[in-house]
Amino acid sequence: MSTSVLNPPGVKAPATYIEEVMTLVKAKNPAEPEFHQAVREVFDSLKLVLEKHSEYREAKILERIVEPERVIMFRVPWFDDQGKIQVNRGFRIQMNSAIGPYKGGLRFHPSVTLGILKFLAFEQVFKNSLTTLPMGGGKGGSDFDPKGKSDNEVMRFCQSFMTELYRHIGPDTDVPAGDIGVGGREIGFLFGQYKRLANEFTGVLTGKGLSWGGSLIRPEATGYGCVYFAAEMLKTRKDSLDGKLCLVSGSGNVSQYTVEKLLDLGAKPVTVSDSDGVIFDPDGIDREKLAWVIELKNVRRGRIREYGEKFKKAIFMPTDIKSDYNPLWNIKADCAFPSATQNEINAKDAANLIKNGIKVVAEGANMPSTLEATKLFLDAGILYGPAKAANAGGVATSGLEMAQNSQRIAWTREEVDDRLHKIMIAIHKNCFETAETYGTPGNLVNGANIGGFLKVANSMLDQGLV
Ligand code: NDP
Repeated sequence: MSTSVLNPPGVKAPATYIEEVMTLVKAKNPAEPEFHQAVREVFDSLKLVLEKHSEYREAKILERIVEPERVIMFRVPWFDDQGKIQVNRGFRIQMNSAIGPYKGGLRFHPSVTLGILKFLAFEQVFKNSLTTLPMGGGKGGSDFDPKGKSDNEVMRFCQSFMTELYRHIGPDTDVPAGDIGVGGREIGFLFGQYKRLANEFTGVLTGKGLSWGGSLIRPEATGYGCVYFAAEMLKTRKDSLDGKLCLVSGSGNVSQYTVEKLLDLGAKPVTVSDSDGVIFDPDGIDREKLAWVIELKNVRRGRIREYGEKFKKAIFMPTDIKSDYNPLWNIKADCAFPSATQNEINAKDAANLIKNGIKVVAEGANMPSTLEATKLFLDAGILYGPAKAANAGGVATSGLEMAQNSQRIAWTREEVDDRLHKIMIAIHKNCFETAETYGTPGNLVNGANIGGFLKVANSMLDQGLV
């Protein structure tokens, strides 16, 4: 399908074409800066592809790939424990189904907007393509905040959310999973309501409980996968994680299992955080302390500052919204694993990390680095693993959960972990080799964006104008 024709008559030069589409994206999607940022990062890499392949320009692949196939936005009314009516907004972005059913998480957080979910859905298209599994890209969620809500309130909200969403999803159409604010408890309530409405027991959500169709290792997968990816990056410099001092942000699902796998591989994690502040534990977060954090966050649903009260040598640094940098990224360390949220590393944070001699940045969160921070990492020549490659282990293992559900079987922990590990090695190899093929060795941002794009774009060409 791919012929190499350089700028045939009537086809614009790549840089001009990209700027024109970028202008269109900003005009058509005003007030969605995170979506613009995600598109800009991918487009910057695609210049290299468009120089070799004019067919993507002729088929208007860029204009098509930034336009969601479908956006669903809906009212979510529910009763709180006082019997008062509450109203939230629900979304599902079905971004691209060229290579498989839509797949991507649901986020429940007060910061959720259409633009945030569009950036996440856009990233998801390329990430899912990199996993080697047949999954399209989607994302959804709500501005509902599960923090401080009772289990009954969370259940009533999830049931109302699914009452609308269920008609748009299905095991061969769209298979949501968890993300910020959506863990095992929420997936359980969502699945229960889907089953009741659809009158069928299918693998329509991933991240399910083990006794009702979930996969072993799915909760661990994003964190484990990110650490496997970091280990692959270090291997290219004949180095390993053994003995490395590591910074981890967040204290939710991704952070917890990043810390666990770092301990498995002999590294020393020294930080965790939440939106209230940062914990720095110079003695290291060992398995006992990690178990305490998991209980704090997943069972008691408490705040990370309590760590400082429990373990006396640890220091708690509260978040200062007026500050232009995050003290977490100013601690001297070898490796950084941002695992909380988007844009948590700005240019100043990146400069601090580089100044302190950071060797590896592996992104567990989605788009945790601003465009300026990304550029600083690339210019500094450190090992930089962008989110859509480094955190793809979560969705890859969701794909493995779908495979097990289709076959009505459950693989062992070792089998799933082994498959996850091999997928992360394959993703790293693809990004590394693609970066070389396109003349930017070591630039895994280009490797991930181009590697993810080619499979989706070629499938779109094959399937005609849909
Ligand atoms: P969780 O809800 O389990 O944990 C999120 C953590 O990040 C919490 O500690 C939370 O603190 C913190 N956080 C969230 N928003 C903010 C904010 N605006 N400012 C500061 N801290 C914040 O979510 P996950 O661990 O699942 O997700 C973390 C990141 O990883 C997200 O970017 C997500 O998209 C990404 N990701 C997750 C995958 C998964 O499988 N779960 C897969 C791939 C990527 P607090 O409790 O105070 O809000």
